[in-house]
Amino acid sequence: MLAHERLCAEYGAPFRYFSTKDPLSELISALLSHRTRNAESHRAYQQLRARFPTWEEVRDAPMAEVEAAISPCTWPEQKAPRIQAVLREIGSRCGGPCDLSFLADMPVREARAWLETISGVGPKTSAATLLFSNLRIPAMPVDSHHHRVAQRMALIGPKVGEGPAHALLEALLPEGWDAQQVYDHHEAFMFHGQKCCYFHSPACGRCVVLDLCPTGQARMQGSSRPVRASDSNA
Ligand code: SF4
Repeated sequence: MLAHERLCAEYGAPFRYFSTKDPLSELISALLSHRTRNAESHRAYQQLRARFPTWEEVRDAPMAEVEAAISPCTWPEQKAPRIQAVLREIGSRCGGPCDLSFLADMPVREARAWLETISGVGPKTSAATLLFSNLRIPAMPVDSHHHRVAQRMALIGPKVGEGPAHALLEALLPEGWDAQQVYDHHEAFMFHGQKCCYFHSPACGRCVVLDLCPTGQARMQGSSRPVRASDSNA
């Protein structure tokens, strides 16, 4: 994977994991982070943990109290009941305690499928739960930056959404990659989207994968095309 190697070199892989949460804490953190800035979802998570030391207490609390605790994130009135419903569902499927550490003993595909049968948990959240938590299971999340870069590089089609992109991009990874390699791949593509392949005006002229990217090549050809008389307003 040439693009992987170049982007990892460009952004300084191997990357340090940013989280050491257990998988259930990572799942709740991912639910809080939906369409919320990192600093705000982090504050909501910290407030929730400070107010309710266990996930069972969050599950059984009056909803208004959970909503107040997570008020720094977007849509706390929607996320509070959703988080409580997720905790109830996990508790009832696991016979009481709210704990997802058993996922460590499942094959990756099964663990993802188990999580994705929970209402409101999609492929990005399931992969983030498995990869970012202390389970360190090689499942790959695809965020909006990663998705945009993959689309521009034609690794996926122009109409493939973020959800379906997960299976397609994961199928391109070499067999047997460990969690650190999958993490590096995701982080490198994400950093590239944040630092070079911007949503508006990607900086193709200084892009380390320009020769691998049909979008960038087309843009560069367009920008260096000589001005013809028909292009001129003169
Ligand atoms: S060449 Fe341009 S469009 Fe392609 S990945 Fe690089 S910055 Fe993005």
